[in-house]
Amino acid sequence: MNYRHAFHAGNFADVVKHSALSLLLSLMAAKPKPMVVLDTHAGIGGYDLASVEAFKTLEARQGIGRVWPHRADPGCPQALTPYFDLIAGLNPGRADILIYPGSPMISRHHLRPDDRMILVERHPDDADQLARRFAKDPQIKVEMADGWTALKARLPPNPRLPPNPRRGLILIDPPFEERDEYSRLVDALVQGYRRFATGVFMLWYPIKDETAVALFHKALVDTGIRQLLRIETRVFGLGRPSGLGGGNLSGGGLIGAGLIVVNPTWPFADQFAPILRWLMPHLAQSPDASWRMDWLTE
Ligand code: SAM
Repeated sequence: MNYRHAFHAGNFADVVKHSALSLLLSLMAAKPKPMVVLDTHAGIGGYDLASVEAFKTLEARQGIGRVWPHRADPGCPQALTPYFDLIAGLNPGRADILIYPGSPMISRHHLRPDDRMILVERHPDDADQLARRFAKDPQIKVEMADGWTALKARLPPNPRLPPNPRRGLILIDPPFEERDEYSRLVDALVQGYRRFATGVFMLWYPIKDETAVALFHKALVDTGIRQLLRIETRVFGLGRPSGLGGGNLSGGGLIGAGLIVVNPTWPFADQFAPILRWLMPHLAQSPDASWRMDWLTE
C-alpha cells in the first residue's frame, strides 16, 4: 500500500471525478427520499496543497489550479457551483486554494439531515485522519477496512437503519497499484450491483494502456449491466512525454482518466457534457487532448 492520494489531490483526474460526484449528488439530493453514500476507497477526506507531498508533484497546479481562476468566467456551467462553493468555503479570504476537498468532503457537502455515509479506507494513517475529521459527525461512519470486502458487507444498505435504503451512491476509486485492478473493478461492480441494483455506482480508472482500457470496457459490457455511462478525458492526448507521473498510477505514461457511472440520475449526462466542454480547454496539456461521454450500454 504505497499509494497516497496527498501526492495527487486536485489533479485533472480529481477535478473531473469530483465535479461529476458533486453533480450526481446534487441531482440525487434534489429528490425527497433520503440516500446513503458508500465510498470504498475514501482517502483522508481533504488535502493541504502546501504539504510536502503536494509540493513534490505539483499536480494540483495542472488540475484545479488551471480551472480555479476561471470559475467566474461567463460560460462557466452553473452545475459546477456546488463544487466551487465547497472549495471556496474551505479557503476563506484566499485567492488561491490551500485546502482541496477529497471525495468524503464533496459528498458530505450534499448530505441532508436524513442522509448518511460510510467511508472505508484501508491505510491505517489515512483511516485515522479520516476518522478524526468526521469524529463528531453522526451521519458518517468511518471504517478502517478493505473497500472491496466492505462493498459486499455494506450492500444492500442495512434496512434497519434510516434512511430508506433504496437510494444510494457507491464510489469505487481504487489506487490502481496492482495489475489486476481493472478486473477487480469489474468484479466489484458485479458484486455491488447484484446486491443493490438500484444504486448509482461511480467507478474511476486510469487511461494509460489503451488495450487494457478496451478490455476493461468489453468486460463491463459482458456483465450485461445496463445504463453504463462512460466518461473519458485524455488530457495528454497521445503525445505524452515519458517520465511524467500522475493520476492514481505511480510512474509515467498516464494519458487520461475515466469514469463509469451506472444508473446516473437524470439528467446527469445532459448536464455533465457542458461541464466537460468547459473544463477540457483548461485541463488540456496537449493539442490533441480529448474527451468523450457515451453509453457503453443503455
Ligand atoms: N476517493 C478519494 C478522493 O477522491 O478523494 C481518493 C482515493 S485514492 C485514489 C485511493 C485510496 O484507497 C487511498 O487512500 C488508499 O490508501 C486506499 N486504499 C488502497 N487499497 C484499499 C483497499 N483495499 N480498501 C480501502 N482503501 C484502500
